Amino acid sequence: MQKNIKKIGVLTSGGDSPGMNAAIRSVVRTCAYHGIECVGIYRGYQGLIEGDFKEMGPRSVNNIVNKGGTILKSARSAEFRTAEGRKKAYDNVVKAGMDALVVIGGDGSFTGGLVFNSEYNFPVMGIPGTIDNDIFGTSHTLGYDTALNTVVDCIDKIRDTASSHNRLFFVEVMGRDAGHIALNAGIGAGAEEILIPEENLGLDRLLESLKKSKASGKSSSIVVIAEGDKIGKNVFELKDYVDANLPEYDVRVSVLGHMQRGGAPSCFDRVLASRLGVKAVESLLEGKSNLMVGLLEDKVTLTPLEQAIKGKSEIDRDLLRVSDIMTT
Ligand code: ATP
Repeated sequence: MQKNIKKIGVLTSGGDSPGMNAAIRSVVRTCAYHGIECVGIYRGYQGLIEGDFKEMGPRSVNNIVNKGGTILKSARSAEFRTAEGRKKAYDNVVKAGMDALVVIGGDGSFTGGLVFNSEYNFPVMGIPGTIDNDIFGTSHTLGYDTALNTVVDCIDKIRDTASSHNRLFFVEVMGRDAGHIALNAGIGAGAEEILIPEENLGLDRLLESLKKSKASGKSSSIVVIAEGDKIGKNVFELKDYVDANLPEYDVRVSVLGHMQRGGAPSCFDRVLASRLGVKAVESLLEGKSNLMVGLLEDKVTLTPLEQAIKGKSEIDRDLLRVSDIMTT
């Protein structure tokens, strides 16, 4: 293993997600395992610009494997988008003696890391942390599995009240550009229909499906809707539309919102974070850079950051068919 890297910085950037703390812990402890130093950078790239750092040893990450959010805090930094901001960041990095950076975040954070690398030839390794699972080069991003479990848990509760009152619930979940959460949590929670950004179901089909469901004897229904669905109406307009066209339904709306980002990470996310953190640090020690660690077919893999940013993370279209069959 190459030993020219003696100190690694780690930061969390963009939207927080459950499992980020477990990833920080893994990076810190892998550094300690290999006898190198680790520096925690607060508030993502903004902390890099402001020199908001803390030396981290294996005991500084005790009791965080089970915690949601990120102890290093996260931020979106407009200043890091400027050359002046990145120059300040580089000066701080040199002053602190850092030799490489682990960036835990989404594609925007990876873009920032790549730009920084291209300007200063500074080694950067990415760990995908976002609940949306919208990053190419990994089947799972950190926090996605936890978010699925959170959404399913919420919908289970909504189902109790839906079935007691014979109601139809439209449940909006996160996913502006990707339907992974809606599709998987929708199937897991037994949704009647699932509306996602990747596929426009159409209003007619939705009405038909709801009519069919009523006729088949179902007394309550759940429709899961991703924020970025393409049906052309927001969730409240959709309720009004169904109220007007299917008066036999008593429709309610539930927008799950930010609760989907929080909570203790699932076991899957904790294990994933631990595996990805080890690979990120050891890849840097092997002299690698500009890569994202990810999980493909249950193997930890490396994907060029550029591909991870540009590539599209496709939904599994078979799941659409599975969902259809499940609503028979
Ligand atoms: P999420 O998926 O939760 O939105 P993200 O990592 O994509 O996470 P962004 O807000 O897009 O979140 O990016 C995080 C930060 O990365 C930005 O606030 C900015 O500091 C930095 N960044 C993004 N794009 C660039 C860029 N082109 N140049 C320099 N820095 C960038």
